[in-house]
Amino acid sequence: MFGSWIQSHRQQIIGCLQELLRIPSVGEESCDPNKPFGEETDRALQYMLNLGVSHGCKVRNVDGYAGHIEIGDSDEYVAVLAHLDVVPAGTGWTYPPFGAEIHEGKIFARGAIDDKGPAMAAFYGLLAVKASGLPLRKKVRLILGIDEETDWRCMDHYFRKEPLPWGGFTPDADFPLIYAEKGILHFALSKPRDSVHGINLYPVEIIGGDRPNMVPDSCRATLIVSSQYIPVFQTTLERFCNEHGISYTLSEQGETKFALTVEGKSAHGSLPELGVNAITLMGKILSQFPSAESAFFEFLSSADPEGSFLGIQCSDEITGKLSCNLGLLEVNENSVRMVFDVRYPIDRTGEELVQLVQQTVRQFSFQLDVLNDKKPLYVPKDSPVVTTLQRVYEKLAHQSSVPLAIGGGTYARAIPNAVAFGPLFPGMEDLAHQKDECIDIEHLIQITNLYANAIYELAK
Ligand SMILES: [Zn+2]
Repeated sequence: MFGSWIQSHRQQIIGCLQELLRIPSVGEESCDPNKPFGEETDRALQYMLNLGVSHGCKVRNVDGYAGHIEIGDSDEYVAVLAHLDVVPAGTGWTYPPFGAEIHEGKIFARGAIDDKGPAMAAFYGLLAVKASGLPLRKKVRLILGIDEETDWRCMDHYFRKEPLPWGGFTPDADFPLIYAEKGILHFALSKPRDSVHGINLYPVEIIGGDRPNMVPDSCRATLIVSSQYIPVFQTTLERFCNEHGISYTLSEQGETKFALTVEGKSAHGSLPELGVNAITLMGKILSQFPSAESAFFEFLSSADPEGSFLGIQCSDEITGKLSCNLGLLEVNENSVRMVFDVRYPIDRTGEELVQLVQQTVRQFSFQLDVLNDKKPLYVPKDSPVVTTLQRVYEKLAHQSSVPLAIGGGTYARAIPNAVAFGPLFPGMEDLAHQKDECIDIEHLIQITNLYANAIYELAK
């Protein structure tokens, strides 16, 4: 229905996307109240809004936090939510990360697939619907956020100023569509640490993990070992690690000071069962030695990916089991701090889980701080949004489809009654946040057509 219009605008779609990708819109903190996420994210937003104006759409910039491009006129609206900020380029690129060069039919740039390519596809999808002149019962808004990769303050601010949509989708994950997402709870447990002297083995410092949402693949401890205990320490360590297949390195840092590094295996924090947690391994090792803190080390060693050690294991029929990742550990002479990433089923709340954790770890008198609690997302399979998008997908991608339930979080949960819809087809490699991120031009054109049809079917 919109295919020939889109084919005849192919060069424009590619050209505009290249221009957008050349803006290095990595979010940053800024003192300018009109550009809260820095100069470059603002440029990307301005670029899209100007493009909307030049095609006769209504646009609004909401205080530099987010904006929208709109077609149609009625009270209710369908939202398509995309973002224009990107993560830093990182290293190891074959082509310049903000060059948007085309090689072998693909546009290479940071943001090509996450999420500027899909944003541009949704924009041209919107224009295709507008150009068709077909009547719409609802307005359609392409809402563009510029703080998705950091804190989602863009959407918080936007919906303080703008009404909520009837429903919609976000082109920022996978096809066919994601109708259920677990809740995501990040919290810290901390307490002061009494320094203990005159014992056989004392960890001065233990550091593990980089980010709460990654399974730590390394944990490092600096240990003071009393000189008469060193032989026992070394043989016990070697025997225990050999028995349990733990790979470690031990190096002397001074007469009685050792650096012990333990290696695990990294995995995404939403799938901790696929990794091996190096902090847990360090806990297992340290609890082999008598110490005043053995209860704490045993606690670390019991950290399981289902959260039983915190008393929060549970599951539901739709999203499955709760997952728990002990992502960060920082122990120094004065304090202990751990950060957890918990993905919880849609029938639970973050508050409930916090209470259970507090009860379970009472003996340690930890302080619990909630760092972030993103509510679960659930749009029933028989709702109009889900059935409509499923129909569009099946018709245009010529594939039967099963809506997905996941433990990850997509941008869809920023708005009610919305689901993630593309851009990746099943089996496609996900290059988001990787070097050599790119979008295949045929894929770009195909999703533009899918988004045009989705917009029309939801709004007609
Ligand atoms: Zn994204």
